[in-house]
Formats: sequence, structure tokens, C-alpha cells
Amino acid sequence: MNSIDIKTQIFNKIKEYEHIIILRHQRPDGDCIGSALGLKALLRESFPKKKIYSIADDWSEYLSFLGNDDAEVSIEIYKKSLIIVLDTATKNRISNNNYSFGKELIKIDHHINVEPYGDINYVREDMPATAAMILDFYDSFRDELKMNYTAAVCLFTGVVTDTGRFKYSSVNSNTMKLAGEMLDYGIDIEKIYARLYLRDESSFKLKGYIYNKFKSTENGVAYMFFSRRIQKRFGVSASEASALVNSLDSIKNKLMWIIFVEQEDKTIRVRLRSRFVRVVEIAQKYNGGGHAQASGATVNNKKELKALLKEADQTLKAFKKEHQDLF
Ligand code: AMP
Repeated sequence: MNSIDIKTQIFNKIKEYEHIIILRHQRPDGDCIGSALGLKALLRESFPKKKIYSIADDWSEYLSFLGNDDAEVSIEIYKKSLIIVLDTATKNRISNNNYSFGKELIKIDHHINVEPYGDINYVREDMPATAAMILDFYDSFRDELKMNYTAAVCLFTGVVTDTGRFKYSSVNSNTMKLAGEMLDYGIDIEKIYARLYLRDESSFKLKGYIYNKFKSTENGVAYMFFSRRIQKRFGVSASEASALVNSLDSIKNKLMWIIFVEQEDKTIRVRLRSRFVRVVEIAQKYNGGGHAQASGATVNNKKELKALLKEADQTLKAFKKEHQDLF
């Protein structure tokens, strides 16, 4: 089925249901909260008589400027609802265990489609953000859908955060055009960028430490391990340390960069990023997944960490052999 047919099918479902519950993934980022709250605002504005909720088990404080989720509703409501899950590749990452009570479920996502768990699956790996998919959906039915300020802030934020401020190769003219159109709804991009990108002093000190201390594998994987001890020493949380992954993104000849962040429960969160080369297959072997060049994973100890690094190094070695023109 082509994408306009799937979008029409989704729009017909939205029109059919009185109750719609919008869900997203755990450990939420700008794109998943932005697309969820953006779609909610868009649908509430367009269909004021429908009951439209966003309900999740966790939250990100730095994104509180996007608005709030709704309080949990009864299972009876779930049973008559259309569930729309955004930005979530696999069922086990949905930040709401009640999703299975829904009457029908639609998956809308731009991650690699390892698990098509919806009754309708609208997955566009070519899209740079789920918020960009929602903007494109709005564009397809703009005669019937009504954009407003709240939706514009959320959807713009979703696109900005998942494209690294419009930097990645999956950004196209339509991404820019539709995100740009959001400025006509009065959003203040200076304020949005301040909310998203200003950091505490402690994060900058830790950044200095990364620049001094990062390591490289033989074939050029740049990496850094943040133990709990280092997090304490710099007074940053595990999620603040995790946010520094792209500090290693512009080093010549380092096409892959990885940060390992020790969590309170001693497991180690892995964030893998790259230019040109795929990393998602590495992540999938270590309880993870994501996008071709931006993935997350988890390892349980230093031994697994070393094994993952070795695999990353070998992947890069093979890639370099085949793409000598890039060096
Ligand atoms: P992260 O480094 O955690 O921001 O992850 C990068 C991308 O991979 C994000 O789009 C995540 O949603 C996705 N991702 C992270 N962990 C997983 C996982 N365990 N399974 C599938 N996708 C993941």
C-alpha cells in the first residue's frame, strides 16, 4: 500500500473514533513527546467533540514546555479507543502497559520496522522524525485539519531535535518547508532553542573532560565510558551525561562514536552514532535498535562493553576497506 493510502486509512480511523489515546516510547525525547503532544493538539483543535488523550508512564523535565500528558483513564475507555503509538519501534518500549486494551492500534514510526505490531503500520524509515511524519500527515489533509500554536511548538521541536537541527541526510525540502511553516503560528524559536540546548555549568565541565579523555579503537571508533563515580564527581545525572553523546560527533577520521553511561542499577546504557556507516545491527545484538546511524543499546558489564566495542571496530574496518574514497 502506498503512503497516501495508509494516511487516508489512518485519517478515516481518526474520524471514526470518539476516543483516541496517543502513546509514545519510554525514556522520552523531543521527537516522541513533540509528535505525541503535537498530534494531540492538532486533533483536539480539528475535532473539538472527540476525547483525545496522551498517557504515559514517564516524562522528561526539560521538555515540560511542550505541555502535559493526561491523567490515566479507565480500562473501559481503552476498550472503546483507537490507540495511536508514535515513534516506538517495538511493543516492549511503549510507555504505557494498557495499550493492549485498545480496540484498534495504529503504529506511526520512522525507526527500522523490526516489529509491525499495529493493526495499521505506517512506518517511514526515510523520514527524519516522527514529528515530520505528523507534519506531512497534516499537509495531506490540511483542508480538514487545523494547526494551532501548541501543535506548532511541539511538532517544530520534534523535528529540530531528531534532525540535529536539520543536519542529517534524511532532511529534505519538505521537512524544511513544513517546519518553517510552523513559524507562521507565532512560535519563538529562540526560546525553544534555549529550552532545548542550554546546559548547566557541570555539563560543560564534563564536556571538557570528554575532550581530554575520550579514547579510540584501532580503526577509529571514538568512545567514552561514564562511570557512576565520574557522574558523581561532575555532579551530573546519568541522563545529563547521556545528552553529551554528540560531543564526539565532529572528529576527523572517527566515523563512529559511542558513549557508555553506567546507570544506577549498574547496567550500562549505550548510545551509538555515526557518519555514513550503519550501527543499528550492532545495537540489535545488545538489546537495542533504532535508526541506521543512531541507535541505543544496553550492556550488563565491562566484558559485554568490550565485546560491543570490538564489534564496532570491526564494522568500521570493513566499511573503510570498501569505501576508501571517503578517506
Ligand atoms: P538513544 O541513543 O537512546 O537516543 O537511541 C537512539 C535511537 O535508537 C532513538 O531513536 C531510540 O528511540 C532508538 N533506540 C534506543 N534504544 C532502543 C532499543 N532498545 N530498541 C529500539 N530502539 C532503540
